Amino acid sequence: MSLQVYLNGQFVDKEQATVSVYDHGLLYGDGIFEGIRVYNGRVFMLAEHVERLYESALAIRLQIPISPDEMTAAVEETVARNGLKQGYVRLVVTRGAGTLGLDIRRTSNPQIIIIADTITLYPEELYENGLEIITASTIRNHPVALSPRIKSLNYLNNILAKIEATDAGCLEALMLNHRGEVAECTGDNIFIVKRGVLKTPTTDAGILEGVTRNVVMELARKANVPVVECTLDRHDIYTADECFLTGTAAEVIPVVKLDGRPIGDGQPGPVTRDLRERFQTFANGD
Ligand code: PMP
Repeated sequence: MSLQVYLNGQFVDKEQATVSVYDHGLLYGDGIFEGIRVYNGRVFMLAEHVERLYESALAIRLQIPISPDEMTAAVEETVARNGLKQGYVRLVVTRGAGTLGLDIRRTSNPQIIIIADTITLYPEELYENGLEIITASTIRNHPVALSPRIKSLNYLNNILAKIEATDAGCLEALMLNHRGEVAECTGDNIFIVKRGVLKTPTTDAGILEGVTRNVVMELARKANVPVVECTLDRHDIYTADECFLTGTAAEVIPVVKLDGRPIGDGQPGPVTRDLRERFQTFANGD
């Protein structure tokens, strides 16, 4: 049987799951989304993702036609119908079809799309050996222009930085903010370990407040690792003992080099390894 996609309350075959070419999600990136993991058939941190989705909706003045509880049930049902045990859910809400103009009053019918599928982001060996990344020249969206806290369908900023990464032969790029401080990577949050303290940029650095970021900070605190949200610059990363990224798709992945400078001894560090293990255990509910 073909993969079943939730589309506005109906389940349709993947091939038949379509939206209008007049949809403002397509025409203008006018919509929001979430990426969510499924571990052992359970949707991980679903309440947090649904909450962030509705906050993004509020910020872009998009009225989602169903309640958060209904959305939660719809995600669960999509996962169950597809018999997904380990995988990834992409939840999208677009502004809906409109006219060839920006006026949202001329759009109708926001589209709710839920896809439950499998995902492999990085090759397994990179979790063992760590990633090499570069700093992109593209800065993260200025929060006053378009807040990175909104998980909107407009990912061009991240895509431009990602292109720089691929051009440099890397899989990820560090993005700085408008003040030249460390913000995040194109699809992940960033952490360092310095003298036993876990550090990550604050949300006002202009980042997406990652669900995985929050889980990892909580797991670190429980493991008696001090956690600080603070301003970081590139020098802090170059001179860190350890560095890693967090994200729903990436989970916890070590970074061993930034802009050609090895971080620490150039190998994934012990705190990173420990937190990755704790994360896997927590996510899999062992
Ligand atoms: N930053 C950006 C720009 C992202 O797109 C994501 C999600 N892939 C993250 C951080 C990590 O967020 P989360 O842990 O909620 O997936």
